Amino acid sequence: MKKLIIILAIAVIALAITGCPTDSDSSSGDHDHKWEAWRVVDLNTPCIEERACLTCWASEFRHIDKDCEGTSGLTYSVSGDTVTGFSGLTPPYAVCIPDINPVDKATPITEINTDKFKNNPNLRYVRIGANVTKIGKNAFASTALRSVIIPASVTEIGNSAFYDCYNLSSVTFAKGANGAGSALETIDTSAFHGTALRSVIIPAGVTEIGVSAFRNAGLKSITIPAGITTIYDYTFENCKDLETVTFAKDSQLGFINANAFKGAGLTSITIPALVQTISVDAFANCKKLTTVTFAGSALTTINEGAFKGAGLKSVTIPASVNLIHNNAFDNCYSLSTVTFAPGSVLESIGASAFSNLALTSITIPASVYGIGELAFAYCGDLKTVTMLRETPPSLGAGAFITAHEDLKILVPADSVDDYQKATNWDYFADKIFAKP
Ligand SMILES: [Zn+2]
Ligand SMILES: [Zn+2]
Repeated sequence: MKKLIIILAIAVIALAITGCPTDSDSSSGDHDHKWEAWRVVDLNTPCIEERACLTCWASEFRHIDKDCEGTSGLTYSVSGDTVTGFSGLTPPYAVCIPDINPVDKATPITEINTDKFKNNPNLRYVRIGANVTKIGKNAFASTALRSVIIPASVTEIGNSAFYDCYNLSSVTFAKGANGAGSALETIDTSAFHGTALRSVIIPAGVTEIGVSAFRNAGLKSITIPAGITTIYDYTFENCKDLETVTFAKDSQLGFINANAFKGAGLTSITIPALVQTISVDAFANCKKLTTVTFAGSALTTINEGAFKGAGLKSVTIPASVNLIHNNAFDNCYSLSTVTFAPGSVLESIGASAFSNLALTSITIPASVYGIGELAFAYCGDLKTVTMLRETPPSLGAGAFITAHEDLKILVPADSVDDYQKATNWDYFADKIFAKP
């Protein structure tokens, strides 16, 4: 009787932990699941049970404290505190990584360092032991896992640990004893690449999210903790459903690297206050991205193609930005308003930086001394360019070609002559006038 109570208690805890949207939801929307009895799904792993709904494809798993940790049919290769393989019948449907070394029945298992589970198309459930601190490289890559609970003990999710687990729609970062938070610090390169995860709140202690960590994932929303200082290359690239990225209050983010959000489904984003650089193609082809808000004044560089092809309608460039590189806002066909914040220190606008926009007017700060070729080309609605600098900035060829036929370039009254004679400005001489 006592044992039964313990089992029930564990089941209740397990249900509480997995209470997020997965195929184990108690209802599927159109019906309340009608569960069959729990049954062991893999005789090698008698501590994991599954039950299926009798009227739909849903199923759910639970871990029970029965014949666990090597008392029956355990088939792991264990070296000291590390699981190094699976030596039983293959392929397993369910795996339990023990809490302690089943051989000496004492040493805590702290690491899963094997790719023996990788590419196993049958593996649908893994229970990760409560002492595991590192889930190693490729540990569960390309398996059929649907949901996973990361114990509070885990500090590192290794390179490609859940890579291309196409069915993995739920990850739960468990709380520790006494309500302590997850110990997770590092999510390595490609860890959740290609997964079906929808909504992820990365634990507060995570300070590193690796290159391509969520690339091609099904994410709809993600919350990034304050300690992340860099979003690395391709981290969220091609997350087509990713609408909402929330950065924690007091975000320390300083860098958004190349291709970080390229092709993501973002509709709006607030760039945290300490971000200094937005790198090459970081938000390129985010066609639904209509609003970008800069929360602070650390940003100095908007790199090549950073917002190329984005759906932006208006943007205010912070005063702190001094370099806007080539093609930064190229092909933002809906972008009708570009404002440089008062006090702008902008020095340089790269080639084709603002070409193919819906701009009707633009005011270029006095600090700008270089404008690249085709910088504002093919803005067919562009009627008014206001130059605040007395000395004409260097201008690349064709900077304003194919603007509106009534284009007027308004310059300081004493500078009209200088502008009309300056290289490449001379091409637009008959459109240059003194500004009121
Ligand atoms: Zn059902
Ligand atoms: Zn077990």
